[in-house]
Amino acid sequence: MTYSNHKKNNSILVVDGSEVSRTIISRIINTEMKNTRIVTCGGGEEALAHLSLEHFDLITTSLMLPDMDGLDLARQARQSDNHHYTPIVVVSGDADSRLLREGFDAGVTDYFDKSLGYQPFVEFIKSLTRRTAGLVGRVLYVEDSKTAAMITRHIMEKQGLKITHTSNAETALELLENAASSNDPNVGYDIIVTDFYLKGKLTGGDLLHAVRNRLHYSQQEMPVLIVTVPDNAQKQAEVFHAGANDFVTKPVIEEILIARIHSLLLIKQQFNALKRQAEEMRQIAATDSLTGVRSKRYLLDNGEKFVSDIENQPACAFLLDIDHFKLINDKKGHISGDHVLSELGDLLNDSFSKDSMIVRFGGEEFAIILPKTSIEMAKIKAEAIRRKVERLMPVNIPITISIGVASTLDHPNIDLNALLQLTDKALYAAKEGGRNRICIHSAQTVEHLILPDMDSGIFEFFNQGDSNYS
Ligand code: GH3
Ligand code: MG
Ligand code: MG
Ligand code: MG
Repeated sequence: MTYSNHKKNNSILVVDGSEVSRTIISRIINTEMKNTRIVTCGGGEEALAHLSLEHFDLITTSLMLPDMDGLDLARQARQSDNHHYTPIVVVSGDADSRLLREGFDAGVTDYFDKSLGYQPFVEFIKSLTRRTAGLVGRVLYVEDSKTAAMITRHIMEKQGLKITHTSNAETALELLENAASSNDPNVGYDIIVTDFYLKGKLTGGDLLHAVRNRLHYSQQEMPVLIVTVPDNAQKQAEVFHAGANDFVTKPVIEEILIARIHSLLLIKQQFNALKRQAEEMRQIAATDSLTGVRSKRYLLDNGEKFVSDIENQPACAFLLDIDHFKLINDKKGHISGDHVLSELGDLLNDSFSKDSMIVRFGGEEFAIILPKTSIEMAKIKAEAIRRKVERLMPVNIPITISIGVASTLDHPNIDLNALLQLTDKALYAAKEGGRNRICIHSAQTVEHLILPDMDSGIFEFFNQGDSNYS
C-alpha cells in the first residue's frame, strides 16, 4: 500500500500582492510539484471570485493584500460553499501576533514565515498537500442505504480508494473469511467502513465484534471505521469498547471521512511495514550470511521438532566437516577460505531436496538433516556429496570433506542433540580414518564406508613441499 498524490491533481490558489512573489512561487511549485495546477491573483476580491467559481485544494495568501486583509480573505473563503475545509495558509514576513491571536478564528490552517525562503515554502506546501493527497487502499464498505452508499462510495472512489460494497454484515464476513483463507496477498482489505445500523440480522456492531473476536484482527491489522448517527454518545462509547478505531456521523462530511480513513490507512501501512521488517529479521536470523544455508539459530528453533516429527521418520543426520580447512586459510588467505565456505554452501543447497535442513553448524562444519531417509539412501547421498566436493575446486585447489552419519532408525525417540552427538562420533572416526570419507554410526559400531584413493584430496595437495605438515 502506497500513498501518493498521483491520483488527484492538486489545485492551489496563490494570493499575493507582489507580482515577483507570485511568479517565483508558481515557478517553484510547478517545478517541484508536477500535476499541480496553480492559479495566482494579486488581490482579495479577485481571489474570492475564483473561489466562488471552482474548488481549490489549498489556498495561500499573504497577510496584507492591496485591497483586503489576508485574514478577512480567510474568513470569507471559509464561508464559501466550496472551501469549508480547504487548508488556508498565510504567508507572512514575521509571526505577527495578530495572526496568532486571530488567525485560527479566521479559519487559517497554518502560517508560513516568508523569511525562511522559497524552497522551505515549497516543502511546507508539499507536506500540507500530502495530508490531503489521494489515498491507496482497499475498503470493505458495508452500508444498507442505497443513497448513502452511492454518495459515500463516490467520495471514497474519488480519492483513489478501491471499494468493495455490500449491504449486509453477513456478506461482509463471508468476504473477510475468504480473504483470510486466500494465499494471494492481493486479495483482502485494508480497512472496513461500516454503517452501525444494518437491515440484516447482524448490525455493524456485530460485524465489528466478529472481526475482533472471531477473525482475531487487531486494530492495526484491520482498522474499522463505524458510520453512526450523531448524538448517540452511548453508542459511540460502545463501538470503541467493541474495538472500533474511530467513527464518523451521518450524514458523512467528505473531508472528515477522508481524513479519518487517511489516518487509519497510515496505521495499517505502518503495521504492514513492521510485519515486513519482522519477517525480514526472521529471515536474516534464520540464514547464515556467508554460506546461504540455515543458521545454527534456525536449527535450535526448529531442529528438535523436525527430528521428532513422526512424518519425517526415519530421519538421518550428517555432520560434514571440511578437511584441513585451516591450511586453506593459512596458504590461500582467509578470503579464499570464505569463498570455499560460500561455494560449499551453494553446493549443499543445490544438492539436497527442499524438505531437508542444511545448517552451518560451526566454522567449517555443516549439519544436514534428511527426513524420511533410510540408512541405505543416506549412504548414497553422502557419497554423492563427497564426490561433488572433490570436483568442486572452489579456489583452484581440490578440497575434501569428511562426513559422520547417524539415523533415528537405530535409536527410536532419540532427540536432536543426541543424534548429532552420534554424527560427531562418526565424523571423528572419519577424520581418524584418514579424512575424505564417510563413517556411519550404527548401533554396534562405527562403519567406515569409504576408503578413497588417498592420492587425491587436500591432504595430498598441501603435503607437496610441506614436510612440516603431519
Ligand atoms: P580437520 O580436517 O581436522 O577438520 O582440520 P581443519 O583444519 O579443517 O580443522 P580445524 O578445526 O583445526 O580448523 C578449522 C578452521 O576453520 C579454523 C578457523 O580459523 C577456520 N574458520 C572457521 N570459520 C571460518 C570462516 O568463517 N572463514 C574462514 N575463512 N575460516 C574459518
Ligand atoms: Mg443503515
Ligand atoms: Mg575441518
Ligand atoms: Mg571443524
